[in-house]
Amino acid sequence: MFVSKNLSVNENGHLTIGGIDTTQLAKKYGTPLYVMDEDLIRENCRSFKDSIDRYYGGEGLVCYASKAFCCKAMCRIMMEEGIGLDVVSEGELFTASSVGFPMDKVCFHGNNKTDEELSLAIRYGVGRIIVDNIYELERLGRLAGEAGKKVGIMYRIKPGIDAHTHDFIRTGQIDSKFGFALETGEAFEAVKKALEIENVELVGLHCHIGSQIFDIDPFVLAAEVMINFIAKIRDELGFEVKELNLGGGFGIKYTDDDTPVPYDKYMENVSVKVKELCKEKNVSLPFILIEPGRSIAAPAGITLYTVGGVKNIPNIRTYVSVDGGMCDNPRYALYKSKYDVVAANKASEPKSETVTIAGKCCESGDLIGEGMPIQKVEEGDIIAVLATGAYNYSMSSNYNRIPKPAVVMVKGGESRIAVMRENLEDIVRNDVD
Ligand SMILES: *Cc1c(COP(=O)(O)O)cnc(C)c1O
Repeated sequence: MFVSKNLSVNENGHLTIGGIDTTQLAKKYGTPLYVMDEDLIRENCRSFKDSIDRYYGGEGLVCYASKAFCCKAMCRIMMEEGIGLDVVSEGELFTASSVGFPMDKVCFHGNNKTDEELSLAIRYGVGRIIVDNIYELERLGRLAGEAGKKVGIMYRIKPGIDAHTHDFIRTGQIDSKFGFALETGEAFEAVKKALEIENVELVGLHCHIGSQIFDIDPFVLAAEVMINFIAKIRDELGFEVKELNLGGGFGIKYTDDDTPVPYDKYMENVSVKVKELCKEKNVSLPFILIEPGRSIAAPAGITLYTVGGVKNIPNIRTYVSVDGGMCDNPRYALYKSKYDVVAANKASEPKSETVTIAGKCCESGDLIGEGMPIQKVEEGDIIAVLATGAYNYSMSSNYNRIPKPAVVMVKGGESRIAVMRENLEDIVRNDVD
């Protein structure tokens, strides 16, 4: 009935998440409110982990892409699930470190890491730094030398695969700010260079072909391109690349138009291809890393808002105004992302209306969505936007000096605050009189 399986309707006709009445959560913690279901987060982690165990003999590591949703509680959950973390900044790295995350399981990404960030990663002993370009290689070599350490690196490769998704979030082709191009020979030259630099050890290659991808084929094709490159490196340079990181991008169900495949299907198909090709080319099976972000966090989260008013503009549209907006969910403004929405206190009623949900920011483009089917709503109703667990809190801003909402985690029928709501003092904290 709902896009995420942890959602239901109780005897009062209220939407529940992880068995808890969402209207009670709204009352207890206020709105707007992000609610994350820890049980579903853990279940999603396990399904990826199990797929590596089942189809690839456990010779791999799931690294959660923390940019999807990062806070201390989330890092702790990942740590307890025994999976790794993909971080992209000092801030994400520091969050992981502050809960004692095992740094050997951290992958550090980014196309323009600063010296400070690289030094921090060296000091923490981050397991794999994913080097994006030749400037970074040289800087990292120098910084590791100064620290008297040898650091494990992977190269970010552009495999030239055009996964079917939105242009803004497509990163696999040659026209991308990320990584080394294969077809121009840039990647091969970079590999030669890495082998000459003393304080770095090239442990693997990485690619990430896009996001919200529903097809399995682009992943299989990416694996094929990468294994062929590993074979070329072995043949021409006599060097065996030990690890292959295939990135994330597994699609999720935002609305009924989305048709994700079960997550273990990716590993099943990729494993078959990798094993077959490695045998044919006589290269050792690489250790495989995958980096799901959205697929772990998004289905586990919802956002609750309170309706402030309903403006019906005859023959044009109906605006339903809520107490949040692009400041807590900029994805419609950025990508025209589609969401499902439910009136949480009227969840058993039919969706008889089609509305535009508007935020409270001073910006006409501040919308959560247009043409959204929903129950008949009025002032004071609680609205739930579904599958907002990824790229909502992490992309939130203080635009219009609006404090960021709290994040509540539910688990086993209980709720707790994972991130406190910002207050007005937080808003002026860094202001200098
Ligand atoms: C964004 C990103 C991911 C996660 O992508 P999802 O679509 O959230 O699964 C993984 N790896 C890298 C390098 C990324 O940039």
